[in-house]
Amino acid sequence: MLVSAKEMLNAAREGHYAVGQFNINNLEWTKAILLTAEELRSPVILGVSEGAAKYMCGFKTVAAMVSNMVESLKITVPVALHLDHGTYEGALACIEAGFSSIMFDGSHYPIEENIEKTKELVKLAEEKGISLEAEVGAIGGEEDGVVGAGECADPNECKMIADLGVTMLAAGIGNIHGKYPENWPGLSFDTLAAVSEKVGMMPLVLHGGTGIPADMIKKAISLGVSKINVNTECQLAFAAATRSYIEAGKDLAGKGFDPRKLLAPGVEAIRATVKEKMELFGSVDRA
Ligand SMILES: [Zn+2]
Repeated sequence: MLVSAKEMLNAAREGHYAVGQFNINNLEWTKAILLTAEELRSPVILGVSEGAAKYMCGFKTVAAMVSNMVESLKITVPVALHLDHGTYEGALACIEAGFSSIMFDGSHYPIEENIEKTKELVKLAEEKGISLEAEVGAIGGEEDGVVGAGECADPNECKMIADLGVTMLAAGIGNIHGKYPENWPGLSFDTLAAVSEKVGMMPLVLHGGTGIPADMIKKAISLGVSKINVNTECQLAFAAATRSYIEAGKDLAGKGFDPRKLLAPGVEAIRATVKEKMELFGSVDRA
């Protein structure tokens, strides 16, 4: 059964650790993340962008695959299926499709409109018992084709959105999606501390977890970050492992072309990445 992310994130906020959101792209990705979470007794959030959902044949296909997989693999740790950077329409479609958590990214709207739309979704999410993430201050990098610089959120605007009753809040603190550039100045802990002071025990979300040094991750957790999104890092690990399998000519030996063999090293690489992140975030044995 899929669960709302509320309980696991409130526990993380109080316990000073973070739950990882790992984005999925297909069956192998999903299976790798679920098995690792179960092995490590860690709660987990599976993230699905609208682009990834389209690739996987829609929200309903994804919800059916994930909930059936949780059952078939006998997964007992809490699993939330979460829409990542949703539009208002996408959020409605996911509620309908059976997602247990949604993000509405209204960060590109004027704050009044972000508040208005977030408020409506808070009500719908409450009725369904699912969790809702809102965003203030755009996260830099590429989000489904939209490229931006890492903004820092206005702490007062964060408070206004937090007060609407959202479950968790993504605030831009100079973080960006994808690989970080050489000259990246690092996370703005001043912004994070100011946001944290305004919103109290509201779990904060750190997007763009790939390539942020471990000490910055730990400091961010100490300042209220309770959910960290990881996407690119699993993709890079999968690609590198698949590349070395093929470069070693293994797909040409015997039945090495069988997708169950061809994709296996990539799956193992995702599992290793997820394990490393769960250990760093401190979510191991918290299920
Ligand atoms: Zn993001």
